[in-house]
Amino acid sequence: MTAQLDSLGRLRHLLSLETLDRQMIESLLDRADTFLRPGGELPARTSALEGRTVTNLFFEPSTRTRASFELAAKRLGADVLSLDVSTSSRAKGESLLDTIRTLQAMSVDIFVVRDAQAGVPDYIAGLVEPHVSILNAGESHVNHPTQGLLDVLTIRRHKGAFGNLAVAIVGDIQHSRVARSTGQALVTLGVGELRLVAPEGLAPDPAEFPQARFTGLEEGLQDADVVMALRVQKERMAASEIPDAADYFRRFGLTPERMALARDDAIVMHPGPMNRNVEISDVVADCPNSVIEEQVTHGVAVRMAVMEAVMATIHAEATMTPVAAGERR
Ligand code: ASP
Repeated sequence: MTAQLDSLGRLRHLLSLETLDRQMIESLLDRADTFLRPGGELPARTSALEGRTVTNLFFEPSTRTRASFELAAKRLGADVLSLDVSTSSRAKGESLLDTIRTLQAMSVDIFVVRDAQAGVPDYIAGLVEPHVSILNAGESHVNHPTQGLLDVLTIRRHKGAFGNLAVAIVGDIQHSRVARSTGQALVTLGVGELRLVAPEGLAPDPAEFPQARFTGLEEGLQDADVVMALRVQKERMAASEIPDAADYFRRFGLTPERMALARDDAIVMHPGPMNRNVEISDVVADCPNSVIEEQVTHGVAVRMAVMEAVMATIHAEATMTPVAAGERR
């Protein structure tokens, strides 16, 4: 994988949470915290990315992640280009490499990339010029690092330390990049217990999640401090594998009766988009313990923190004296 950090340990790209250490994750969360304002108000504008260009390159649909990156870049003072990729040149047969080169020739500083194919953000990070940064905004079923960060920020703001927490992630774990990235961040931050709760056929290979405990639904929810519901990722399944919505809800939907097994103060999370009354009931989605909208608010702050961090690295590298730069080679 392309290195996410430079030789001094500074964030250069954000491709995956798997190899970020606790200190880096905490420093991004601390910075994101400073951007948050009461009442869900948007963060104050800064000029950290003034004169810079951020390009959203989404080859898979997105509502909140794309809007959130765009808002975050604008709050930092950047110019933002959000490409409608259904009409982009890649759809016309231009290679990904040529698309990137074309945009690079317009001085793009940060590419925010979402793709249905695993490996694409890493591939792009390996070929862009040294002053360009790649941020992974969702990669097949494998990585969604900014979602992982906003999830742990949300948990930290409600629950404080992670060591005593039981976090249950419930639903289609097998196809979920959120389960992977959020799970990785939780483990790095020392979560007490990570429970993966998937219906039959939607559980991943346990070897992929060595630090998690796989449980049935009731056991998984029992005394949980945090319950995160996941959408069934139909777009990653063959038509014959897609479960019937009503049947899924009956077997696995988060209902008030099931949530009663969790702790009274358990928070309810969902990365969105929600399929109400499939993986989560209306009542649970809208209950007082639901922090689903807060997750969205936190997404803007987290993405600001990440973009600010990579730009600071690029700026520091560009302004290094030639001697210092030479020493690093
Ligand atoms: N929005 C999240 C993602 O892009 C979760 C989902 O789509 O269900 O992975």
